[in-house]
Amino acid sequence: MTTALITGASSGIGAAFAVKLAAQQHDLVLVARDEARLAEVAKAATDAHGVAIEVLPADLIDPVARARVEARLRDTDHPIDLLVNNAGFALGKRFTRTTVDEQDQLLDILVRAVLRLTHAALPGMIGRGHGAVINISSIAGEVPYGTYGAAKAWVNSFSQGLAAELRGTGVQVMTVLPGFTRTELQSRAGINRSSLPGFIWLDPSTVVDGALRDLSRGRVVSVPTVRYRLLTTAVRMTPRALLRASARRF
Ligand code: NAP
Repeated sequence: MTTALITGASSGIGAAFAVKLAAQQHDLVLVARDEARLAEVAKAATDAHGVAIEVLPADLIDPVARARVEARLRDTDHPIDLLVNNAGFALGKRFTRTTVDEQDQLLDILVRAVLRLTHAALPGMIGRGHGAVINISSIAGEVPYGTYGAAKAWVNSFSQGLAAELRGTGVQVMTVLPGFTRTELQSRAGINRSSLPGFIWLDPSTVVDGALRDLSRGRVVSVPTVRYRLLTTAVRMTPRALLRASARRF
């Protein structure tokens, strides 16, 4: 039996990770702010699959609360074998229409939390000679798309560099680039989902299935679904000037 710690497990992609990993008989530590929703996810996973689940409510923007999660990751008596850095949000507004504190909080959750939780988890994993870190990035990391896109580009670069650094240790690091996924991310950011065609949307379970399959194959970069792999390849071949021109319309 192994244990996975998932951040942002109260909804969307994180909750889907909880269901899938419980079905694979992983014990779980679930992190997010909303304790009641975490308890619901935990109950559903325990009832269906009989795994042990800890609920660890924490606001990952708050350094004191985040330190509790870091401490849990360092606990060698109850080791974490898989860390899923998933918690996140989008602001849904242009840089100049937000406060600098909102921008700072976005970096806190999308970058600082990923960096600090990974740093806390790795020594134990390396010492035990096995473990994995899955970082949930986005296809937005491939295009010029404000602080959100820049933060996700950091996640991609950080994860790939770390994967190279950890070669031979038994510890895997993988970055996942989901496309548009039906979760609460858009509604929380006040983004209207109906402006995009239906075929573009993925279900969280599809993203998680693709990510777990790619992890088992030893991939470092996971782009769930063929259609988004094609799109990502096309974006990478597109001249940056063209990407910048289209980004101005976001
Ligand atoms: P979601 O349904 O809104 O879930 C976000 C999760 O993050 C929730 O569990 C939320 O829980 C948690 N969270 C937010 N702020 C937090 C904080 N300060 N401290 C702790 N937890 C916090 O959205 P989602 O789409 O599943 O997002 C998961 C990840 O996927 C994000 O990193 C996002 O950037 C990425 N992604 C999403 C899409 C998409 O189209 N949906 C596409 C590409 C990448 P609480 O509110 O309970 O704290």
